[in-house]
Amino acid sequence: MPSEQDGVMVILSSPSGAGKTTLVNLLSKLDKFDISISHTTREPRASEKPNKDYYFVNEDEFNRLIKNQEFLEYAKVFNNFYGTTRTPVIDKLNRGKNVLFDIDWQGADQIKNKKLDYKLITFFILPPSKEILFERLSNRDMKDKLIVEERMKQFGRDVLHWINYDYVVINDNLESCYSKIVNLIDAEINNGSKDYDLEFIRRHIEKLIS
Ligand code: 5GP
Repeated sequence: MPSEQDGVMVILSSPSGAGKTTLVNLLSKLDKFDISISHTTREPRASEKPNKDYYFVNEDEFNRLIKNQEFLEYAKVFNNFYGTTRTPVIDKLNRGKNVLFDIDWQGADQIKNKKLDYKLITFFILPPSKEILFERLSNRDMKDKLIVEERMKQFGRDVLHWINYDYVVINDNLESCYSKIVNLIDAEINNGSKDYDLEFIRRHIEKLIS
């Protein structure tokens, strides 16, 4: 049984282009969460700061961490490795801090299957429509049509993992999506009533995959 003094784990996942990173940045401004900093073998982007956005490591170092069983979870995403080391997360949770994870569905599955003794709340963020997703992906740093097409195909595969999450939230408007997540987390922690319409979500997903 999770203890009331321990922190809560909150996972945010989404297919590429749903706006999850912006949401995580907004949530990180609240005092409520510590963001889990992942290790990755990917090259840093111009806007990213080492040891803040990610711990950027080479494959040898990543493999060493795997071998030493330091990862709580790890996965290959778009040809790069990403992983969450166990010790900083457990230390924070034991000190009563809530930890927010920006990780993909593979990592979310792994953490869920570990059945750790801490409360876990998982969110899957989705775009309002395929058309808007296409627009968002095209306007990003990926002007390359082939990459956008590949990400759209990947979306079709990734979206199917919604079923393994506690909540699916549609990011049609950043402010309302953010409030929905914060309210659901509060309701989960305080056993309050949850404003969540699963049937609406099911219909939305049917449209996205049709
Ligand atoms: P990006 O390269 O755009 O920062 O992240 C690509 C994907 O990797 C995103 O879906 C992000 O959530 C996921 N990701 C980032 N860190 C981790 C991690 O530690 N573990 C897993 N499984 N996925 C991660």
